[in-house]
Amino acid sequence: MDYQKLADMLFPQITKTPEDYEKMYPPRNLPEGAKVTRLGPSPTGFMHLGNLYGAFADERLAHQSGGVFYLRIEDTDDKRYVEGAVETIINSLDFFGIHFDEGASMDGDKGAYGDYTQSHRGPIYQCFVKKLVSEGKAYPCFLTEEEIGKIREKQEAEKKTPGIYGEYAVCRNWTMEQIQEAIDAGKPYVIRLKSDGHPAEEGEDGKMHGRRVQVKDAIRGTLDMPENFMDTVILKQTGIPTYHFAHVVDDHLMRTTHVVRGAEWLPSLPIHVELFEKMGWDLPIYCHTAQLMKIDEETGKKRKLSKRKDPELSLTYYRDQGYHPQAVREYLLTILNSNYEEWRMANPDAPADDFEFTTDKMSNSGALFDLNKLNDISKDVLLKIPAEELYDFLKDWSENFAPEYKHLFDDKNYMVKILDLGRNDRKPRKDLVYARQIISFISYFFDDLFQIEDELPKEVPAEDVPKILDMYLETYDHSDDNGEWFNKIRAIADQLGYAVKPKDYKKHPDEYKGHVGHVSTVIRIALMGRSVSPDVWAIQQIMGEEKTRSRIQKFADEHR
Ligand code: GLU
Repeated sequence: MDYQKLADMLFPQITKTPEDYEKMYPPRNLPEGAKVTRLGPSPTGFMHLGNLYGAFADERLAHQSGGVFYLRIEDTDDKRYVEGAVETIINSLDFFGIHFDEGASMDGDKGAYGDYTQSHRGPIYQCFVKKLVSEGKAYPCFLTEEEIGKIREKQEAEKKTPGIYGEYAVCRNWTMEQIQEAIDAGKPYVIRLKSDGHPAEEGEDGKMHGRRVQVKDAIRGTLDMPENFMDTVILKQTGIPTYHFAHVVDDHLMRTTHVVRGAEWLPSLPIHVELFEKMGWDLPIYCHTAQLMKIDEETGKKRKLSKRKDPELSLTYYRDQGYHPQAVREYLLTILNSNYEEWRMANPDAPADDFEFTTDKMSNSGALFDLNKLNDISKDVLLKIPAEELYDFLKDWSENFAPEYKHLFDDKNYMVKILDLGRNDRKPRKDLVYARQIISFISYFFDDLFQIEDELPKEVPAEDVPKILDMYLETYDHSDDNGEWFNKIRAIADQLGYAVKPKDYKKHPDEYKGHVGHVSTVIRIALMGRSVSPDVWAIQQIMGEEKTRSRIQKFADEHR
């Protein structure tokens, strides 16, 4: 068979040669050891935590080494394309502090190794497919869906591995005439790799024997897998490549040094190894990241995060809840590198970028994702963010995700004081976690959100409630300091038969109705609607005298 003739017949429109592309995209001129990484999301409109997890690894590897991190849009699966998805990808990664040096961007492509959108690269892929065909390493296959279905049925009946390979690859050895005839008849076809591999066979020892391939993975060590033997489709009927072929061509031509991708690609790695080999190119360094897992609330067992069951898999979840990007970043770093937490303890105030990120400290067995842990980390992270910055962040969040709270940001001074409450104490309060939680935590400062949430203490008889509040209002002086203010509460407690010191009440419960804490809880509930809150005096100072008095008065009147 004259393979060159076949290649020319199948791809008459391709006039460029592989050498032309090699020249167009020469090896990058980067310092020794600089890593080139990429993120290759599909524009499905759904950005998940795994994308961000991988993106952090990519970003760190490239930027720590003085390399390049680029964005490639992997849209070869046109069924999955969602309008506006590219903007979603760029915006959501940008929000979490992931910035690309090169690749697809809001203002078109940036960089000399593009086009960075796979669907625009048809002629490039076709040129390399043409080369494989011309060398007898790939061939057109005219099998219909139906025929493939029949082959599968036969294979299943014979307990053979399903797929197109060996004797089942019926178009593999077609003559030029057969091919010409099929094309003339307008039959659609794909291009398949002509694999050199063979399926493993059972030996006399009862074990499976077959050739294997070894690949070094920077996260997992040396992988040892059965070789590929499938005549995998590399070019679809549309002239668009499959993921496998696009990956090999793009990562070669874009001079990627490290391919960070999810563990779901491990089973197809032998295909990629064979493709790289057939192209005569070096393998990039693969870094197959761990699956993101969580503890299932119902079963208590570890399982994969699921799009259907776990809203926290979507990046939109974090934006909608209003997690601060620094908190998410800090958390992801703790699950990305097992030594990060230790480093953070030793360097509490250092920027996260000072940490030296390595692939060998990445988990390979399933990274456990835990929202509670994220929340804990978020509390620490938010504590370090000045209240004014937090105000800007929350205001922005509300404009985008919760316009019903926009008015809360009208009085900046008031909001900043609220956000700073208890944060500068010797033992600072860690009340703030994420925007929705913060709004609900501070809602009592705003009349339209204020409501009575908790019960009055049972130690206080109903008739004492207005009494306590009336006495409180009579003696209230907004200029009292914290000590003076509390002495007045003590005095009220004493006059009404409550122990001034809680421990006296505990020792002699029969001698008192309750203690000073119960009295102050009545005030707390009248003011905040809650029995637990930050320091009441400090809250009153922020609320101002008028709001303080009117809340107390209203509650007293309602309880007469
Ligand atoms: N487009 C692939 C995906 O969405 C990317 C895999 C890769 O990074 O090679 O999963």
